[in-house]
Amino acid sequence: MEIKQLARYPFVKPASELIKQENISLEDLLTHQAFSGARHRGKQRIIDSVEKAQVQDAKLTSKEDMLQEILSYAMARILVSSVGDGFLIRRYALAEAKTVYDHLQTEPIDRVMEIASELGVDATLERDVPSMHFADFLRYTSGIRSKEWKLVNTEVKKGLVSLPKIKFARVLEQAFHDKIEDELPLPVADWMIKALKDDIQELKNLAEQMKDRYKVEGFGEIDAESFPPCIRRLIAMARSGENISHPGRFALTSFLFSIGLSRDEILAIFASSPDFDESKTRYQIDHITGEISGTKYTPPECSTMKSFGNCHNIDDLCRQDWVKHPLIYYRAKSRRRRKQPGAKTVPQASVPAEGDKTATKSATT
Ligand code: SF4
Repeated sequence: MEIKQLARYPFVKPASELIKQENISLEDLLTHQAFSGARHRGKQRIIDSVEKAQVQDAKLTSKEDMLQEILSYAMARILVSSVGDGFLIRRYALAEAKTVYDHLQTEPIDRVMEIASELGVDATLERDVPSMHFADFLRYTSGIRSKEWKLVNTEVKKGLVSLPKIKFARVLEQAFHDKIEDELPLPVADWMIKALKDDIQELKNLAEQMKDRYKVEGFGEIDAESFPPCIRRLIAMARSGENISHPGRFALTSFLFSIGLSRDEILAIFASSPDFDESKTRYQIDHITGEISGTKYTPPECSTMKSFGNCHNIDDLCRQDWVKHPLIYYRAKSRRRRKQPGAKTVPQASVPAEGDKTATKSATT
């Protein structure tokens, strides 16, 4: 690969070999004036990830620009690891992976296969079409919700799945995303944290600001402070653009509709998802809320939430024997909050009473 390509794909082995050949030490990268541009660009990669959900392309006109771009990737990984914030790591992984996906779409198929090999994705070319074992396909696409990604809607021959280049690039996006999330945070020495302390603080502040934005708020008259931990987590995931499993989306949608959010308000919560597709999401919401099916589904109870891995961060109220449903938690917490001195009145009309199954159905699909 030429250096220009290495700058586009700075995670490949030849990129780290180039840094070694150039004799650039870690100390130099973190402290020497000659590498202030790489440090700045490394920080910018993370800022772009948080603010734009994508790393913006840098101008690459000279060899120095390209080397700086390669170094900036290493720098970003060190910075993100030094901050050590799970939210920041997830945003960073999503953005770097999305950027690679965009780059791959314009590459010849041989380059795409080269990147696949660098990412450890086992695939071969069959008449210029990438093809992979169905087990690997399932591993990388389990989080992609669109119907077109279901195995039944894909051409499978002798256990191999054939994918057009663009879809294969999407698989590689996921592989790169998983790789970053698996590798970070890297171990960081004290001297490194000391050398980067101002940048680390800036990124910490940025992460906190963004997390505040994703907090459970902005629900108008709804008492969001009384949401159970499982629902708070799903909302934070949706707003920060993390993939949510199908049962998780079902639980979130049915819960929010049960307590009075409109379909449009629920749609807006899912809009940050990396795979957001307005018409498909609207269809799902309309289905769960009875607009299409005529059946208004109730949210799953705690036992179902647990079995699908959607019960998280339980608190003292969750531990009460009688809290068997997120809506019971919500009603109980709202009641407690209303009894607190100076509490505002919270609308409760749309919250079903415990055991009220009138015209409703509960499901997890
Ligand atoms: S115990 Fe129930 S209400 Fe609490 S987090 Fe788990 S599923 Fe939600």
